[in-house]
Amino acid sequence: MKYDVIIIGGGPGGYVCAAHCARYGLKTAVIEKRELGGTCLNRGCIPTKTLLFTAGLLENLKKSALFGLKNAGGEADFEGLRKRCEAVVSSLRSAVAKMMKQNRIDVYQGTGRVLSPSLVSVEKEGESKTLETDHIVLAVGGAPSVPPIPGSRLPGVYTSDSLLSELPEVKRLVIIGGGVIGVEFAEAYRAFGAEVTIVEMMPRLLPPFDTDLARHLAAVFRKKGIRVITGAAVKAISEKEGALAVSYGLGEKEESVPADAVLIATGRHAETKGLLSMDADMERGCFKVNDRFETSIPGIYAIGDIVYGGIQLAHAAEAEGKAAAAAIAGKPCSIDQQLVPQCVYTIPEIAAVGISEDQAKKEGIPLKTSRIVMGSNARSLIADETGYMKIFADKDNHLLGAQLFCKDADNLISEVSLAIANHLTTEDFLKVIRPHPSVEESLGEAAEGTLLK
Ligand code: FAD
Repeated sequence: MKYDVIIIGGGPGGYVCAAHCARYGLKTAVIEKRELGGTCLNRGCIPTKTLLFTAGLLENLKKSALFGLKNAGGEADFEGLRKRCEAVVSSLRSAVAKMMKQNRIDVYQGTGRVLSPSLVSVEKEGESKTLETDHIVLAVGGAPSVPPIPGSRLPGVYTSDSLLSELPEVKRLVIIGGGVIGVEFAEAYRAFGAEVTIVEMMPRLLPPFDTDLARHLAAVFRKKGIRVITGAAVKAISEKEGALAVSYGLGEKEESVPADAVLIATGRHAETKGLLSMDADMERGCFKVNDRFETSIPGIYAIGDIVYGGIQLAHAAEAEGKAAAAAIAGKPCSIDQQLVPQCVYTIPEIAAVGISEDQAKKEGIPLKTSRIVMGSNARSLIADETGYMKIFADKDNHLLGAQLFCKDADNLISEVSLAIANHLTTEDFLKVIRPHPSVEESLGEAAEGTLLK
């Protein structure tokens, strides 16, 4: 069989790229060695957000008296949580399979390998077939990295993959790594009743986000009883009489924290070993690509978590998949990385887009910054949620970025993205009449604040 495009990897980068290739009229195939939907659907975004939805319900139930409810307590049922995750995941997985069928995309189950720019092999259970193609898109994503910490293979020590597949009920969870994955699991397990400790090597949580956001999240976590230890280098995980302990260096001192389970959430690596039978320009396992997402080998493209210098998020992978499909179809394609929103699904949520204050400071870009707290926002008050919004504009009032730490931040951030993408000024942004009462109306207020600077 000869294809116009073969995509290796059926995650959000791969399946979105495939759908777009098919819509451009290209004969398309996807090779997937596990399940369609990739990390995002099967062991990433979707199961974690399913857990965090329940975590939010539980947090609200704990405040039931405040909301005028009697006898409305609740507690986590891990068997129920597992079933709920599986139901949501399998429903979305079927939707992806249906979308492949509707677009007449051939799906091959097996491990793909590039033999040449026009030949790809698919291997499954010792059997191999070779497919011919004009273009190849690599979308193989990544897997959790486990640093060489002594004890990291002990029973009870998990990665995000194994924790989600087992979903153990634990009393004391220690999370090594205070990045996005670490803080989201901390939020969920704390709501489910565990004692949670985060041990982070950097001086603060969420290292790529602005210092201000990280500081506020740490304060919110402390209030919820999540222990946050920063600037701590984990030395070892040990086991004694069935209990685990994580020891770490904190300045001159060495300390340790007991645990029933440990989650290692220190990052992910690209799964590109052995993918190509020829050399390509790579750095730390990731492909260097041009602005059309083409690797150093003409006709071979790379998208998603395996792009060197890219943003490891599902919607970034999807946007890159669309761009690669357009490039292959000879259509214009481009992505503005500044427009990729970064969201963290803590309670309240965090969402940021465009320039950050830390970045502006580093690059000497003058910013007009407006910050409003959510205490006076009716909808936040009703939901007993706090937080703040920050909006940044340049001296001519063009909106450059925003950081939201509030209810529904992940939905609201796109309003700011739209403004940045279209070079809107604060005055343009304020032409919109936002509903009352809504969380969104505070965005208008925050934007208005930049005009006073
Ligand atoms: P993947 O989704 O990893 O898909 C790659 C696919 O390729 C996999 O299905 C794999 O089986 C397959 N594959 C690999 N090698 C081969 C081969 N040789 N042959 C055939 N198939 C192969 N991002 C967000 O935007 N929002 C979130 O809320 C979010 N939460 C997350 C939570 C967790 C716990 C984790 C781990 C990640 C989260 N992410 C989130 C990140 C997101 O999951 C990834 O950025 C996204 O899945 C990357 O998409 P991708 O298509 O590049 O790769």
